[in-house]
Amino acid sequence: MTGVVEQVHTDVLVVGAGPAGSAAAIHAARAGRGVILADAARFPRDKTCGDGLTPRAMHQLRRLGVAGEVLGAYRNRGLKLHGFGDSVTVPWPDSRFGAEGSAVPRTLFDAALVRAAADAGAELWGGARASAVERDAAGAVREVAFVRDGAERRVRCRHLIVADGVRSELGRRLGRKWHRGEVYGIAARSYCRSPRAREEWIHSHLELRDADGVVQPGYGWIFPLGDAPVGGDPDAAAARLRGGADAGADAPGAGGSAAGWVNLGCGALSTAARPAKVNTKKLLSHYAAARREAWTLGEEQHVTSAMLPMGGAVSGVAGPNWALIGDAAACVNPLNGEGIDYALETAEQVVALICAAGGDGGDLTAAWPALLNEHYGEAFLLARTLARALTHPRFLPAVGPLGLRGPAARVIMPAAARLMGNLVTDEDRDLVARVWRAAGAVTKAARAGSPLWAPAEVAPAS
Ligand SMILES: Cc1cc2nc3c(=O)[nH]c(=O)nc-3n(C[C@H](O)[C@H](O)[C@H](O)COP(=O)(O)OP(=O)(O)OC[C@H]3O[C@@H](n4cnc5c(N)ncnc54)[C@H](O)[C@@H]3O)c2cc1C
Repeated sequence: MTGVVEQVHTDVLVVGAGPAGSAAAIHAARAGRGVILADAARFPRDKTCGDGLTPRAMHQLRRLGVAGEVLGAYRNRGLKLHGFGDSVTVPWPDSRFGAEGSAVPRTLFDAALVRAAADAGAELWGGARASAVERDAAGAVREVAFVRDGAERRVRCRHLIVADGVRSELGRRLGRKWHRGEVYGIAARSYCRSPRAREEWIHSHLELRDADGVVQPGYGWIFPLGDAPVGGDPDAAAARLRGGADAGADAPGAGGSAAGWVNLGCGALSTAARPAKVNTKKLLSHYAAARREAWTLGEEQHVTSAMLPMGGAVSGVAGPNWALIGDAAACVNPLNGEGIDYALETAEQVVALICAAGGDGGDLTAAWPALLNEHYGEAFLLARTLARALTHPRFLPAVGPLGLRGPAARVIMPAAARLMGNLVTDEDRDLVARVWRAAGAVTKAARAGSPLWAPAEVAPAS
């Protein structure tokens, strides 16, 4: 570091430019706020993910008005679930979210969202890692320090939105605590060539066996990516995704291969009491080998792995003028590991809260956890309870065959897929929706006191 200190002021400072941060920057800039969007990385950058976009995420992208910019042509119609000797096809339900999903490599998706944030008026700081935070006696954030280009830069802000992902380094400095006694995920993903990359269905294998044949508490996935390129020159790849002429060296059809790419990965559920005893990268390799023939898969490439806190199992997510969103607030569905939709949704919600009450938003300390609870509390607690049951070694081998085999599966699995995807809306009045809501309310009452965005126990020094 050179010791040079630059100080600037902004209305809203957003730290982390994944889907949560970029979407928050877009909403805040459109609301007329001055916004700095800072990320430790420079874009385009990779992010370990399955790249799947549920109808919920698609809905949110349309609300943001960026679907045309961030999506390619590829769309999927639903899910094919496999395991225990059978398969079930489950179209996306026809809810207010729409019945269409997609999948876009995060290198492209996130870079396009960042571009949209800059277009909306946010000032982008790439390569800026938040390294310290200063608060006043009431716990309000006054200033965040960044290291950027070897120099320290300080940003004073009225509001801070923390969207720095799973590890949430900045969140930790502010008192965020991850409760590992609750269920969390460990997962790995890869990209493989496959001639089935344009298939309109995503695939999940619920009978995920390791090399010793033991059923793991999780699932494997294959998400076709259409014509989206992987690797190569990300800028050229992005141009191709948007329909430009430059295909990039690694795009389907370029470099002599007609096969596109699929995102192939697997994840297992874990708790501190029952940690998944599995090496996810080895499990992925075993899973890919089992699917190779059916999908004419190429070798697994770009293999990465990560952990996922889930279902709101963190505390200390807000202070007087700051709030955590997206993965930083553990807004990940415990039953399928998806979080892009919640990242986009929590971005919109937090900006609305900040802009409420005559533009000053009031104190977020209790208001933000209360809003998260209202929107996701019941669904996440119920999903966490079911996911915890899956970590019992005998649970899945016992119930899996009941759910996937025979005529009952045609009824059970569409309902299960809808519930797993949290695609039940408040407007839905059918039996499945009513049972889900009732079970959610009962679980919430029964598990009152379990960690769900509770206030920070101790306000640590900055
Ligand atoms: C293996 C795997 C598969 C998954 N598959 C899916 C899927 O198919 N569909 C789905 O919806 N979800 C999926 N998820 C979850 C999804 O990836 C996350 O929910 C989503 O990325 C959350 O977005 P975010 O913006 O909160 O965080 P992120 O996307 O993680 O973005 C956080 C950003 O913060 C930046 N940052 C971190 N620290 C700092 C710092 N100190 N200063 C400045 N910047 C910082 C990082 O560089 C990063 O760009 C998967 C997750 C995993 C691990």
